[in-house]
Amino acid sequence: MKKIKKKRAQTKSAKNRTIRRTAARSARTARSGGGTDPKRVAAILAKLDEAYPAATCELHHDNAFQLLISTILSAQCTDVRVNQVTPGLFQKYPTPEAFAHANPASVEQEIRPTGFFRNKTKSILGASKALLEEFGGQVPRTMEEILTLPGVARKTANVVLGTAYGIASGVVVDTHVQRLSRRLDLTRNEDPKKIEQDLIKVIPKDRWILFSHQLIWHGRRVCAARKPKCVECNMEQLCYSRDKTI
Ligand code: SF4
Repeated sequence: MKKIKKKRAQTKSAKNRTIRRTAARSARTARSGGGTDPKRVAAILAKLDEAYPAATCELHHDNAFQLLISTILSAQCTDVRVNQVTPGLFQKYPTPEAFAHANPASVEQEIRPTGFFRNKTKSILGASKALLEEFGGQVPRTMEEILTLPGVARKTANVVLGTAYGIASGVVVDTHVQRLSRRLDLTRNEDPKKIEQDLIKVIPKDRWILFSHQLIWHGRRVCAARKPKCVECNMEQLCYSRDKTI
């Protein structure tokens, strides 16, 4: 009997918490004019600037080609792990020519620690061959062209065009941007392509590149998938996510 009473009390308290959070969220949304109200978006951007004025890509690279390879390697892998693998890899294979003529089995062993090494090897060798055959060995500077490279989808294309060339072709939507955009109510979509389209509408174009770096930094340092450190977050007043821990 005692157990049943305790269970009922716990359920009631959980329900009350949910009601309080929903009410708080509605009140804040109403006050701010909604998730993508320009004033609210500007306030989020200001807070990101305050916390991460110099956010940038954390994949080590010396040129667009190295960044392309590093970004392909970063799929389902941390930047830290990729940065451990690339110095030796780029020493051995410094150019698209070197990768295009490489023995796939050797490349597979080199990049094995990054996971999915067989598919990644196919993409790297395929992209290197395409660069040589179609683009004179240079990483192209348009979304249309870069998307023709094997293993390159919009996320990789946006990383390379934005970071290596400073071209704002879109917003990089990785797992952090995906999660944080939803927590900050800048999108209600889950599909990365749709999230990017939502972000493009509300974030000024001259902020696309820096904004994605800043969200990725915030996701890595504060707003983790599990247990975000909301007490340390300077956007806490602007955030009404259900995942908040305060
Ligand atoms: S308040 Fe918490 S959930 Fe919201 S953005 Fe900050 S860390 Fe993330």
